[in-house]
Amino acid sequence: MSVISSAYSGFRLAYEALRGHRGWGPAWRKAAPKQAYDVVIVGGGGHGLATAYYLAKNHGITNVAVLERGGIGLGNVGRNTTIIRSNYFSPENIRFYDFSLRLWEGLEAELNYNAMVSQRGALNLVHADGQRDLLARRANQMLLEGVDAELLDKDGVKRLVPLVDVDNGRFPVLGGFLQRRGGTVRHDAVAWGYARAADRRGVDIVEKCEVTGITREGDAVTGVETSLGSIRAGKVLFAVAGHSSLLAAMAGFRLPLETHVLQAFVSEAVKPLIDCVVTYGAGHFYVSQSDKGGLVFGGALDGYNSYARRGSLPMVEDVLAAGLTLMPALGRLRVLRQWGGAMDMTADGNPIISTTPVRNLYLNGGWCYGGFKAIPAGGFTTAHLVATGAPHPLIAHFGLERFREGRVIDERGIGPYAWMH
Ligand SMILES: Cc1cc2nc3c(=O)[nH]c(=O)nc-3n(C[C@H](O)[C@H](O)[C@H](O)COP(=O)(O)OP(=O)(O)OC[C@H]3O[C@@H](n4cnc5c(N)ncnc54)[C@H](O)[C@@H]3O)c2cc1C
Repeated sequence: MSVISSAYSGFRLAYEALRGHRGWGPAWRKAAPKQAYDVVIVGGGGHGLATAYYLAKNHGITNVAVLERGGIGLGNVGRNTTIIRSNYFSPENIRFYDFSLRLWEGLEAELNYNAMVSQRGALNLVHADGQRDLLARRANQMLLEGVDAELLDKDGVKRLVPLVDVDNGRFPVLGGFLQRRGGTVRHDAVAWGYARAADRRGVDIVEKCEVTGITREGDAVTGVETSLGSIRAGKVLFAVAGHSSLLAAMAGFRLPLETHVLQAFVSEAVKPLIDCVVTYGAGHFYVSQSDKGGLVFGGALDGYNSYARRGSLPMVEDVLAAGLTLMPALGRLRVLRQWGGAMDMTADGNPIISTTPVRNLYLNGGWCYGGFKAIPAGGFTTAHLVATGAPHPLIAHFGLERFREGRVIDERGIGPYAWMH
């Protein structure tokens, strides 16, 4: 039987270093599924694992299984560009995402896990007067909610990121919109940290266990069929990101979602070049530098529906062209790796954390481009929903019924579009 690793500390690190690091145990147990659980969570990504952790910690519900068809951290939680921020416009979204940012700020101490939370700042560039007006409005709205936001002029941008071509002939930079508390987090460490913390509170994390069917009695869910057999469940949560529509079909209903692939890229490692996250305002391009030195960047979705986690070459060209317009010096770098993730896009670009047409079946999904930053708050509020059956006040606007009732979320006040995330 494996010995689970005890608490991590500086003392322990020094002790293990002297013993050749032979004393570390696995971070979580390799659990085999039981026949029945109070709650079964389908999907061992960031949201599924965080929900399991907060169910145990906040609500004392520990008879919980997280069923993951692959390995922990191999879904979108380990495939994203790692950006966290709360620079939204609508008051409801500012409150939700800033709650998440505040949880990020204390997360490593809470989980006893180094997730490399780095509040290095998130900068959006301004290339037109109208864009500056919109971002000024957004900054004011954030300040009204007590959240940090700053507007920079062109010189301020140049000082912060000298690499940006502020005098670009086609898209000159007029200024920037900065949230200093935004930044990056080591993405797969988030999955590992929540997995370890949930496991230590008694949650079973079952890997290589694919859910293949949903069992119902009348209008209520009663369990799941899996590649490891049938499991009964009092409540079931879908937290499968890009695969939400497939799971919903197994349960007998449809979701207003489309799945697309989103690609990301990393360059060869170089010395420190970019100190913060930079988002291009004239095209869809965002970039930061990892602690290893690689530039991590991405752009928009591939334009067709797909569950494949690889993208098309036209989008590679599009992303690289935007990057070179913004920072011509990047042309000297080589791209080291490229990958993709299956994105669950809603019509208004906002997530769904909700009850479903099936009783005792809940959904956390529709994260579009932005579900990584939301993992702590998503897990916290989804746990509340599953435990109590009622939405936490921070997610009252994320209900599934909004699509049927025509109350879609107009996040930026300029139209409820999926790409306005
Ligand atoms: C390239 C890219 C860049 C991104 N950049 C950012 C960013 O910078 N900032 C940000 O906030 N967000 C970003 N995102 C979005 C973010 O990664 C996702 O919204 C978020 O990770 C989704 O939630 P999750 O972590 O729970 O999903 P996942 O990690 O995908 O977890 C879902 C899990 O469900 C499992 N699963 C699916 N079907 C089944 C089944 N039948 N049975 C059992 N298990 C199943 C999958 O294997 C998967 O592990 C990005 C996404 C991509 C792809």
